[in-house]
Amino acid sequence: MKIEFRKIPYTKSDFKVIDELLVCDGTFYKESNRMLRVEIVMSGQITVDCDICGDAFALPVDETIALKVSDGVSEEDLEIIECQDHMVDFDEIVQSEISSIKVDYHYCEKCKNEDQGE
Ligand SMILES: [Zn+2]
Repeated sequence: MKIEFRKIPYTKSDFKVIDELLVCDGTFYKESNRMLRVEIVMSGQITVDCDICGDAFALPVDETIALKVSDGVSEEDLEIIECQDHMVDFDEIVQSEISSIKVDYHYCEKCKNEDQGE
């Protein structure tokens, strides 16, 4: 879902993104005419690769992510997503959050158990 920044209301609205087995329920509202607040509740699972053996496995995800999106360049020093063309792309925001979970270190059950056994 893509929305033009200036068309986003100040009242809370919802969006939903489903990525395979992961359901992302989001809410968003404009905090000021250049800043948007987004909250995403992620639940389900994503497929990640084990950092030890390289096997793909399902990682359960149950997370709430709060973030800000600014219209154009932001001077605030927080972790803010800057939207370039005055369009907010919620699918892209969700995908980037999923990618940031994926780049973390993950160990499959087998490797986790072997690690504990030492
Ligand atoms: Zn493994």
